[in-house]
Amino acid sequence: MKPLIGITPTLGKDHKLYQVSSDNVAAIVQAGGVPVLLPYVTDRHDMKQLIQTIDGLCMTGGPDIDPTLYGEEPHQKLGRIIPERDAFELELLRLYLETEKPFLGICRGSQILNVAAGGSLYQDIYAQIGSSVLQHGQKAPHGHGSHFVYVEKDSLLYRCTGVEKFKVNSRHHQANKKIAPSFQASGRASDGVIEAIESKDHPFVLGLQWHPENMLAEGDERSINIYQAFIQQAGQA
Ligand code: MN
Repeated sequence: MKPLIGITPTLGKDHKLYQVSSDNVAAIVQAGGVPVLLPYVTDRHDMKQLIQTIDGLCMTGGPDIDPTLYGEEPHQKLGRIIPERDAFELELLRLYLETEKPFLGICRGSQILNVAAGGSLYQDIYAQIGSSVLQHGQKAPHGHGSHFVYVEKDSLLYRCTGVEKFKVNSRHHQANKKIAPSFQASGRASDGVIEAIESKDHPFVLGLQWHPENMLAEGDERSINIYQAFIQQAGQA
């Protein structure tokens, strides 16, 4: 049996249609997992049953997170939010982090991970950090690596990739700010923006601010390393 990997979709602008990029699904398949999409159930027992069923969990990109969930009010530059997605992913994550099963958070998935564990976000890096920030909303094609990430050597991200610096794509205007207790920032851009976080208490709980699923489609070695390590860990869960 291949590891079963839950993937959380987003909701379209009408808040009725579940959507997920096919690259998220293809990445799990390419790395040797069986993907399954998880709709937003609200019952905690249903969530626990989903968690028992899957071997790994991947939370995907999407719009912004309600800032009141991390103790702030909306900045002028806050974008669209999806309250039902915030509620589902936060509760699912809190229950999931009680297990040892692996987690991969992508972009918004990295941010919701940090919020679930007690951290906070920049609601808009350009307005709140200032003119020193790099371009994190690249105009290049989605799979193109546009800025570098500098990796902490004593980290899961380093163990996955084996390199201290590599290029990533970038499509975000928010970023993790205060890192949750018992988490560490394991990758940063040259402007200091946090690009990767991970739990110090779990074997494999990793949040990436970029989109490896888009780069893997183009054969990017680091993205392949990360997905394979994730699926391998799920196989042991
Ligand atoms: Mn970036």
